[in-house]
Amino acid sequence: MRIPFIDLQRQYQSIKAEIDEAINGVFATSRFIGGSTVAEFENQFAACMGMPHCISTGNGTDALFLILKALDLPAGSEVIVPAWGCIATAESVSLAGLNLVFCDVDPHYYILTPEIVQQKITSKTKAVIAVHLYGQLAPVSTLKRICDRHNIFLIEDCAQAHGATENKTMAGTTGVASAFSFYPTKNLGAYGDAGCVLTYNAQLAERIRRLANHGTLQKDDHLIEGTNSRMDALQAAVLLVKLRHLKKWNNRRNQIAWQYTNTLKKIAGLSLPQIRPGATHTFHIYCLRTRLRDALKIFLEEKGIETSIHYPLGLPFTPAYRKFGHKPADFPVTQSLQHEALSLPVFPELTTEEVTAVCSAIADFFNQPGR
Ligand SMILES: *Cc1c(COP(=O)(O)O)cnc(C)c1O
Repeated sequence: MRIPFIDLQRQYQSIKAEIDEAINGVFATSRFIGGSTVAEFENQFAACMGMPHCISTGNGTDALFLILKALDLPAGSEVIVPAWGCIATAESVSLAGLNLVFCDVDPHYYILTPEIVQQKITSKTKAVIAVHLYGQLAPVSTLKRICDRHNIFLIEDCAQAHGATENKTMAGTTGVASAFSFYPTKNLGAYGDAGCVLTYNAQLAERIRRLANHGTLQKDDHLIEGTNSRMDALQAAVLLVKLRHLKKWNNRRNQIAWQYTNTLKKIAGLSLPQIRPGATHTFHIYCLRTRLRDALKIFLEEKGIETSIHYPLGLPFTPAYRKFGHKPADFPVTQSLQHEALSLPVFPELTTEEVTAVCSAIADFFNQPGR
């Protein structure tokens, strides 16, 4: 038996007819960048999230970068970013010429806490990027209140949280703007790179749209310098098909997570992912913690079960950011997650039998003599 961490082929096979038709439709028009398919995706995604403006981008990293760029923050501004997460979030800050400030995360939910954020706010802080890590919302309503009090922008990184909610508020609808990634393995994934920004703010939306397309909207009116970060029509066509399945797929991921949690909760050596009261999770990642992480990972590998680590290093300890000279003691939760975090396979097409097999193998590991 081999259980993959993710298998995109299974998903393609399950929607092959719809996808092939959509892709052929793009070939028929041969409008490959922008155009009506991309506009249609922007409209449908905005409607689905209940937001007025969706601007498609080349990828999720660009979506974050373009938001920061469009906000036009003064030089020397600090942007608070979680220390535990994907490097893309941090990169967007440096790309926009702003100063990164890392912040430790909550030990149970792996996301920012209002308390830690507050400690990091200085007179130079101009934005906080809340990352809805693994598919669970950071406490956006509280963070928004803190940000408003200090005149700071709240930006949401929703790359792992398409459709997640907190007290019925959708991910990506609280901050001044939010970034989504449609990287192929995300809960809503294209067949290549793609991303988008959601915002309430019409002016900001227009500025981001310009920045993403060489400073122009349509007529070669380069009012400003921008860049090239556009969604192509093939990706939009794929995303339009997949958007119809997102809710069902997120539900299936939750079923899988429930099966893991319900079976693995009897094992004393594991800390399982928790969902905050009032929140819904998308389970982009099912990340558990154990002190025996490395041994368990090897044991599962030998049984044909693929797992992953999100993330091998906290951002302050990643080579690219060692120049800041952070110490492990500055980020205690991040520090321990590096050694303990293990992600189990979760994708909608994973079968109940496969989840059972993963759970049995984990139980076997902890039942070995001497454990
Ligand atoms: C994937 C991801 C990104 C980056 O998205 P890309 O489309 O790969 O550029 C940003 N933030 C988080 C939390 C992610 O998981």
